[in-house]
Amino acid sequence: MEKFLERGPPNASTSQPSKRIEVCPRKYPDDPAFQPKITEYPPNDRDEVRRYYLQKGPSQPKTVDFKQVEMSGLMCKFNPSWFKEFGSWLEYSEHDGGAYCLYCYLFNESKKSGDTFITEGFKSWNKKDRLLRHIGGPNSFHNQAMKKCDALENKKIFNSNLAY
Ligand SMILES: [Zn+2]
Repeated sequence: MEKFLERGPPNASTSQPSKRIEVCPRKYPDDPAFQPKITEYPPNDRDEVRRYYLQKGPSQPKTVDFKQVEMSGLMCKFNPSWFKEFGSWLEYSEHDGGAYCLYCYLFNESKKSGDTFITEGFKSWNKKDRLLRHIGGPNSFHNQAMKKCDALENKKIFNSNLAY
């Protein structure tokens, strides 16, 4: 019973199937398209994952060729100036060419959220208003996730002040 609590000795010489998620900060993928859902991490590890990504900040590659996509007859692509405008949360995946939200990713623990900024990556580059709609009102999922991120970061600072 409770196999997940077992901690056997390291067994480097045998070829065991690798676990999908290894609880080690170096293993947290940078590209949002490769990041496992937060619910795929054990509940007790999620705050550590969140702190890692909040400390690192959103993935915002500045020197890539943003992929062009045809929309309503126009060639459109991600506008890097949005990194300034939505700098605290907007992420861009070099892998799939989509935009993601760091805050919502970190606190998306319910299955009901089908927002493209969390799931498959936003790519409707001719619809900038969707970024504002994603933020939404004071009690939107996004703003609640942002408050949780703030609380987590403040808690960390508070704790580290008391650590000595
Ligand atoms: Zn969001």
